[in-house]
Amino acid sequence: MTVMTNVKLEQFPYSEAAKKALARKPQLFIDGEWVDSTGGATLEVIDPSSGKVVSHFVDATNDDVDRAVAAARRAFDDGRWSDLPPMVREGMLHKLADILAAHADELAELEAIDNGKPKGMAAAIDVPGAIGMIHYMAGWASKLGGAEQIEPSATPRGLFHSYVRREPIGVAAQIVPWNFPLLMAVLKIAPALTAGCTVVLKPAEQTSLTALRLADLIQQSGIPNGVVNIITGNGHTAGDRLVRHPDVDKVAFTGSTEVGKIINKTATDSLKRVTLELGGKSPVIVLPDVDPKVAGPGTAQAIFFNSGQVCVAGSRLYAHKSVFDSVLENFVEASSFWQPRASLDPAGHMGPLVSDEQFNRVMGYIEQGKKAGASVAVGGDAPASEGGYYVNPTVLVDVKPEMSVVREEIFGPVVVAQRFDDLDEVARQANDTRFGLAAGIWTNNLSAMHKLAGKLKAGTVWGNCHSMIDPALPFGGYKESGLGREQGREGVEAYTELKSVIIAL
Ligand code: NAD
Repeated sequence: MTVMTNVKLEQFPYSEAAKKALARKPQLFIDGEWVDSTGGATLEVIDPSSGKVVSHFVDATNDDVDRAVAAARRAFDDGRWSDLPPMVREGMLHKLADILAAHADELAELEAIDNGKPKGMAAAIDVPGAIGMIHYMAGWASKLGGAEQIEPSATPRGLFHSYVRREPIGVAAQIVPWNFPLLMAVLKIAPALTAGCTVVLKPAEQTSLTALRLADLIQQSGIPNGVVNIITGNGHTAGDRLVRHPDVDKVAFTGSTEVGKIINKTATDSLKRVTLELGGKSPVIVLPDVDPKVAGPGTAQAIFFNSGQVCVAGSRLYAHKSVFDSVLENFVEASSFWQPRASLDPAGHMGPLVSDEQFNRVMGYIEQGKKAGASVAVGGDAPASEGGYYVNPTVLVDVKPEMSVVREEIFGPVVVAQRFDDLDEVARQANDTRFGLAAGIWTNNLSAMHKLAGKLKAGTVWGNCHSMIDPALPFGGYKESGLGREQGREGVEAYTELKSVIIAL
């Protein structure tokens, strides 16, 4: 079954604000100013809805990276940011969030043009998520706590005065992926700034538009020059230079497990602090008591949201054998809601994939699955279109645990559906992966819900929902899905060092 046959493109023109952003001169944001690169190389902005080149941006040189790190270093070392009263830093972050809110429509459109996600989704999720993240993180600036007095345990009282200081780590290098470009950039910058760090951020080479626009808005917020520097460019060149730089104290990376492993090695060679948010292959488990009319659309949303290009996407569906057929039937029916459309089509819920490379990767996995014996319950192909990287929502059944479609992160609108018999068996199946980012459980049986939540090796477990991410809740992965946690108090503390001070009285 194919969900749709044609994707319409031409009737969705860009707004004047978007055209202006696309027409900007390729430059880097260093020390509070827009500066030219020392090299002449640029990279293309391609609209995934049409496959057309719509703008260019700088491919930063080693020298550019060094200039950005030097600016962040100076801004950290002279205390222009970390020495400000926490309430003043907090206020500037709230102001930045308000400026983003004033540009919400433009940011949503740029995200849609750059990434391919429906503008409506960007407007409902990415942009408000980024604004909320800044407001939430801003509050920690004045609440993180400074000195905490602790009585020494091995000496009589009164001989020593000791306390623990929490201090900003220093310069943070932050590298983000293309699936939620603005949200990921803000998720990195906001906790670092709240902790008193300065940053150099590199967006993904597929999606740099909103990070560049964010730099304009940072300029308006009162945040001092050099506190946030934004450079664009390729990962294996500019990104690698950033991670290796001796003046960088911490590396925060979100992206694939493969690149995360390289970055971890490079960064820890010089003992930089590292946090990694990596890939996933998240299981979604449907127990027999759930109404298939609820579970079908719910589990379809878990995979098809953002065209499946979500680290926590529910890409392995396990339905109890007694309800498997009816859950599958409802899931397949729900797939029509996710038919791919151009990102500026107001009727769209799912856009194209981000790039030609990602399109080929996802179609390649579907072919591998078919060759290995999987059957296609829906989709499995690309709709006809006049360009762009569209893939139909796809459900594969008759899969085996050893197939690549079951084991590897596809990062597209493809789910593998399997049956299970009892809780222990499904927990074993769900945990049979090198990843451990997230999991979903659909049941009204409270005891089964809690039992399974305890058994699943994942950083986040959702019950009767999916992809609910909140700034207050720590987020990160077990196993090869990451290192450390972002968001919540832990996310801010990840940008700090502890210092014990012991003074003989
Ligand atoms: P990617 O790893 O290819 O690239 C991510 C970023 O790393 C980009 O900015 C890229 O330029 C940079 N990079 C690439 N090679 C580098 C190198 N050698 N040194 C330094 N930087 C380098 O990932 P992607 O394809 O952009 O994003 C998809 C992946 O991100 C998926 O695996 C997804 O699961 C993961 N992801 C994880 C989370 C999470 O929070 N766990 C969130 C979103 C995406």
